[in-house]
Amino acid sequence: MTIDAKRHRSRTGRALRHLPAVLLVAMGLLAGTCSGPREGREPTVIDGLTMGTTYTVQIAKHPRLSARSVLQIKKDLDSLFAQINREMSIYDNNSEISRFNRSRKTDWFAVSHSTAELINEALTVSKKTEGAFDVTVGPLVNLWGFGPKTGNLTVPGQEKIAEQMSHCGYRKLSARLAPPAIRKTTGNVSCDLSAIAKGHGVDRAAAYLDSAQIDDYLIEIGGEIKARGTNAENQPWQVGIAAPDSTFGVGKIVSLNKAAMATSGNYRNYFEVAGVRYSHIIDPRTGRPVTHDLASVTVIHDNCAYADAMATALIVLGPDAGYDLAVREGLATLMIVREGSTYSEKATPRFARFVSPGRERITGER
Ligand code: AMP
Ligand code: MG
Repeated sequence: MTIDAKRHRSRTGRALRHLPAVLLVAMGLLAGTCSGPREGREPTVIDGLTMGTTYTVQIAKHPRLSARSVLQIKKDLDSLFAQINREMSIYDNNSEISRFNRSRKTDWFAVSHSTAELINEALTVSKKTEGAFDVTVGPLVNLWGFGPKTGNLTVPGQEKIAEQMSHCGYRKLSARLAPPAIRKTTGNVSCDLSAIAKGHGVDRAAAYLDSAQIDDYLIEIGGEIKARGTNAENQPWQVGIAAPDSTFGVGKIVSLNKAAMATSGNYRNYFEVAGVRYSHIIDPRTGRPVTHDLASVTVIHDNCAYADAMATALIVLGPDAGYDLAVREGLATLMIVREGSTYSEKATPRFARFVSPGRERITGER
C-alpha cells in the first residue's frame, strides 16, 4: 500500500508543517488512528498529530500487544509529544524556547535536559557546517514569511535583511548540561528548532518503544523516520523515495534497521515572486532563501535529530559543497537535483548500502 505523504504548508493559523520534498512510502503502511493488534501480516498502527504534522508508528509482530496496551502506547506517545512541545515548540507561547526567545536577559536560562542537549547538538552541526545550519535563524525565517509570524509574501529589502541578520548567529547561543541551561550573548537572539525537532521527536519515541521492549517498529513524524527490527512480513522495514514531483512513482527503496532517515526539501514550502522561488530554508550566510537546484536531501544516520539537522544543512550548502561535506563526514546521503524538466541524483557511497537491489534509480522525465 502506498501512502502519499505530501502536504502543503497552511498559511492560516499555525503552519501545518509540510512533509519534505521526497515522497515517502512506508511499505505496508495502514491508515487508521489506532488499529490492531491483528493476526497475520499486518502491523499495529498508531497515528496522530504532533508538531503541526502527523505521526505514525507501526509495530510488527509483538506477541503481547493487547488492544489495551496499544491504547496505552498511543497515550504515552501523545503525552511524550506534548512534553516535547512544551519544551521546544516555537508555536507554543509558553514553551521553554518561546520563553527564552522573549527573554532579553543574557544570563543562563534554565531549561530541561532534553532542550539543552538538543541545542548542544544543533550547535555541533552549526560548527561542522560552518554556520549553514543555524537555529538562531528565526528572525530571518519570520522576515521571509515562513515562521509563526507569517507575513506578506514579499521580498524584503537588503536593509531589513541586514537588520535581522544582526540578531542571528549560532556563536551568540550556548548550552550547558549541568545544570541544563542555555544562554544568549545579546537580548534579541532567539532559537528556532524546526529543522531538528521532528528528528528529535522520532528519537524520543524510539527510546520510549525501546524501553517498552518493543523490538520491531517504524516511526514517522512528518517524513522523518526511524526503524528497528523487521516488519510484519519478517522483512527489513522498507521506505520508498521518489523524486519530489508527484508524477513520479516510488523510485528507490531503502531498508532501515536501527537507522533513521530524514529529508529536507526546498520544493513544497515556498512562495514565488516574478518567477523566482523563495524557499523556507534560509542561508544564514546571506540572510536569503536558498535558490540553487537542489530539490531535496535525504540523510540516513543512527540519530534522527542529527539526520534532520544535516539534511537541512546540506540543502543550504547545495549540491557541490553539500555533497563534498557528506562524503567527508561518511554520511549516507541522497541528493535530488532539479535539471530543467528532469531530476538527477547524487548519492554518497555510504547511501548505496541502504538501497534495495533493483531499486536504484529515481530519475526520468517529468
Ligand atoms: P527542515 O524541514 O528540517 O529542513 O527545516 C526547515 C525549517 O527550519 C524552516 O521552516 C525554518 O523554520 C528553519 N530553518 C530555515 N533555515 C534554516 C537553517 N539554515 N538552519 C536551521 N534552521 C533553519
Ligand atoms: Mg531538518
